[in-house]
Amino acid sequence: MSRAIRSIVIVGGGSAGWMTAAALARTLQRDCTITLVESEDIGTVGVGEATIPPIRLFNEMLGISEADFVKATHGSFKLGIQFNGWSRPGESYFHPFGTYGKPFETVGVHQYWLQQHVGGAIDPIDNYCMAWHLAQAGRFAPPSRDPRNVLSTYDYAYHFDAVRYAGFLRAYAEARGVVRHEGKVAGVAQHAETGFVETVTLEDGRAFAADLFIDCSGFRGLLIEGALHTGYEEWTHWLPCDRALAVPCAPTPDFIPYTRSTAQEAGWQWRIPIQGRTGNGYVYSSAFIDDETAARNLLSRLDGAALADPRALRFVTGRRRKSWNRNVVAVGLSSGFMEPLESTSLHLIQANISKLLAFFPDRDFDPLVIDEFNRVAATETERIRDFLILHYHLNQRDEPLWRACAQMQIPDTLQTRIEHFRRFGRLIARDMDLFGPPSWTAVQIGQGNRPQRLDPVLAYREADGAAWLAKFRAAMAAEAGKVPSHRDYVAQHCASHG
Ligand SMILES: Cc1cc2nc3c(=O)[nH]c(=O)nc-3n(C[C@H](O)[C@H](O)[C@H](O)COP(=O)(O)OP(=O)(O)OC[C@H]3O[C@@H](n4cnc5c(N)ncnc54)[C@H](O)[C@@H]3O)c2cc1C
Repeated sequence: MSRAIRSIVIVGGGSAGWMTAAALARTLQRDCTITLVESEDIGTVGVGEATIPPIRLFNEMLGISEADFVKATHGSFKLGIQFNGWSRPGESYFHPFGTYGKPFETVGVHQYWLQQHVGGAIDPIDNYCMAWHLAQAGRFAPPSRDPRNVLSTYDYAYHFDAVRYAGFLRAYAEARGVVRHEGKVAGVAQHAETGFVETVTLEDGRAFAADLFIDCSGFRGLLIEGALHTGYEEWTHWLPCDRALAVPCAPTPDFIPYTRSTAQEAGWQWRIPIQGRTGNGYVYSSAFIDDETAARNLLSRLDGAALADPRALRFVTGRRRKSWNRNVVAVGLSSGFMEPLESTSLHLIQANISKLLAFFPDRDFDPLVIDEFNRVAATETERIRDFLILHYHLNQRDEPLWRACAQMQIPDTLQTRIEHFRRFGRLIARDMDLFGPPSWTAVQIGQGNRPQRLDPVLAYREADGAAWLAKFRAAMAAEAGKVPSHRDYVAQHCASHG
């Protein structure tokens, strides 16, 4: 007898629910019903405006055209994140998508830059990445496919309206057979012996049975926690922010192709331009500022008129102890949350969906499969966690939150990486790193981690580092001038109307 999964119920219709529904509908083309239950009364988190480059693979996997997607979501393009005041007030650095210099050099460009820096040069390392040349000039076009051209050395992602993205994917999923039911889940029935979830029941009594349940119910984790009591590992001692206020404001004429993250007294403020508005938010620690002051400060620091009242969100940073428990897989906020500092939440949704497809079960729910899924999910999350802590820990600011972060004990996995950079400017890779060497370079140098000594390998090189760097910088500046403005690119290829 076939043990194949024949029915799937997704609980929740936020970004996680509809991304999952779309991917499952695309992949499971027959012999399996996909049902999604969501409650308009409960609503969604609805923020989630900035992304990282792998989202392009997700859209490509669905066969979605970039222009249709950007139009539908009022999107814009993102070349990286500018961090203002994170090392100390007045200083700034760029975390680019892409590389410094060119990727195939055996000695990293940052090593030559460090060599010059020791020699007294103070030119920011940002000047040696193509993404920053374009970003600072407000320009955008997709990268060149010619590897000899410096315009091939950057990558990009999007900013968009997360509510519109969920709506766009809903239309996609429903067109491929996903059936949506409106209503509030009031009960979860489990098998008396195994604890497997058998049905979810709505307030009006409708019940939905399935072989496999996907919990996309948001922070509440209705199935993974409410029913299965899976447990949560909290990381607030490393990432102390626990609240956010989000508010859109009127757009400014510059329409920059990057996110801005500005450190504030008790957290940081994001600025994300999309078509028709700019998204803003203050992510803060309630132990260091009260909600009223945070709201006042956020509103006073907008660069356009507020278009709504600030929306308050609370969260506990950490991860569910298992993302997959019995026949329930948690995707999205139900599986954990880390603040949006590096725009990783939508990516983690995508990552759990990819793993679910790679480890798709049958009704035996083999523990070997579930354990591997959970091992990979835990490692992916911890790698991102360490990268986020790096931003907080390496700071030289003087407010209480920042002093506490500079002094806190950090995970050994991160301490090792910081120490390697501190010795010789070396970047230590770990399996399943989402953020690669250029990202670690950007943040370590940007936050002031300077090596005690130069990498010994530099002594064997004949290249004149200064001339080599100057060549890159000039080539990048020249090529940037040939790229259209971000505003013109969007107007020409993917302008949204209304
Ligand atoms: C302040 C903040 C900023 C963020 N910024 C970014 C960003 O820039 N980039 C990024 O990638 N991510 C960001 N995120 C994360 C991102 O918003 C979420 O990962 C994403 O929206 C997924 O949310 P979700 O679908 O898991 O949950 P939700 O949006 O909360 O959706 C939960 C769904 O479950 C349904 N539901 C819940 N309970 C029931 C019930 N009893 N019955 C029926 N339905 C139910 C709800 O109706 C809803 O449809 C941010 C998050 C926060 C808090």
